[in-house]
Amino acid sequence: MNPDVPTRIPFARAQEIVAAVAQAHAMPVERRPLSRALGWVLAEDLVSTLALPGFDNSAMDGFALRSDDGATPRRLVGEQFAGPSQAFTLAPGECVRITTGAVLPTGADAVLMKENALVEADTVTPTQAAKAGQHVRRKAEDVAVGDTVLVAGTVLDASKLSLAAALGQHDLPVRRRPTVAVFTTGDELRAPGQPLAPGEIYDSNRVLLQALLIAEGYEPVAWPVLPDDPEAIAGALKDAAFSFDLVLTCGGVSVGEKDFLPAFLEREGQVHFWKVLMRPGMPVLFGRLGEAHFLGLPGNPVSVLATFLTLARPLLDTLQGRAQPRRPLRARLTADVSKSHDRLEFLRGVLACDAQGQLLVTPNPADGSHRLLAAAQSNALVVLAEGAGQWAAGTLMDVLPYAALDASR
Ligand code: AMP
Ligand code: MG
Repeated sequence: MNPDVPTRIPFARAQEIVAAVAQAHAMPVERRPLSRALGWVLAEDLVSTLALPGFDNSAMDGFALRSDDGATPRRLVGEQFAGPSQAFTLAPGECVRITTGAVLPTGADAVLMKENALVEADTVTPTQAAKAGQHVRRKAEDVAVGDTVLVAGTVLDASKLSLAAALGQHDLPVRRRPTVAVFTTGDELRAPGQPLAPGEIYDSNRVLLQALLIAEGYEPVAWPVLPDDPEAIAGALKDAAFSFDLVLTCGGVSVGEKDFLPAFLEREGQVHFWKVLMRPGMPVLFGRLGEAHFLGLPGNPVSVLATFLTLARPLLDTLQGRAQPRRPLRARLTADVSKSHDRLEFLRGVLACDAQGQLLVTPNPADGSHRLLAAAQSNALVVLAEGAGQWAAGTLMDVLPYAALDASR
């Protein structure tokens, strides 16, 4: 490998390079209907051209009236339901039957709940006086015209989409989602469901990567396993590099006789870095191939999990201009942890919230990067800082959740 290629770089440097490359390749903006925009990243600020509520209206089913009439019986002069405005104007001593969300008649300043009214023919007697402003939702008390209600870089979730809908938006400008091609590599791999010959193992990373991507709303396209054959690898990857935004591989990035990817990427594309001082995941390879970003994750399953969460996901986030970084949570260790090596480590652990509302993380001692069971029994990566060290039970640690927190744990 060319000596100019950054190698064995600190993890923080790798993250910086990923961020800089992604910022330089922001995905194009397109408009998407709200019904198809869940999880997409907003590309421009949304400035309201409407007030919310758009008019003074009732927060209750009952009777719109003038509070200055006191507790006296009122004459029922009409009905205003949610829908077209009847344009009522209330004179003193009058009231109008009203439903939630209906326009408040001019002159009315309060709504008497149905439950607090005695109705006889066309007379309504309050059982308690209505105070001024009671059960009235004022025009623009939620959003005023000209308010910036969502900022560029926001991930659109259900409540944000509904806010945009309430403001009359049919579609929103979003950054196009990167398309992702997934490759697993290795002569030893068989698809689950097929018989295994001696020395073979099942390809577990394929579904791991697919699931990690699908969970983020991507639609990954996965190839059949690539053999450890430089020509087969080159053919498939070069093809994908012209049709996808990201080519994501696993395996074949280390220094073994069958690890062809670093030399291939150097020859056919560009290497941004190879090998990061992290564990697991050290041999990770990042660069560019054809029209695509190229991220070569190591083969060990737990390395795939750690490098996906800490490098691939931030790459995809930043390509879409996502503003909120996914910062680690802070949780207290329930047991002592130590490490003797210098690299940043992502240990697996179970993150839970105790009855006092405190986040606790229980590290799993099975730290090998092939220990899939430990990963499956855990729900978070515990970050052990660079340098050898010991962390006593009770220490506050950074943790990156990768599965739902289960309060019952
Ligand atoms: P490699 O980086 O290709 O040398 O792979 C490192 C380790 O991960 C080896 O033990 C491989 O057998 C294993 N491995 C590579 N790819 C996969 C995969 N797709 N599924 C499960 N294990 C894999
Ligand atoms: Mg391999």
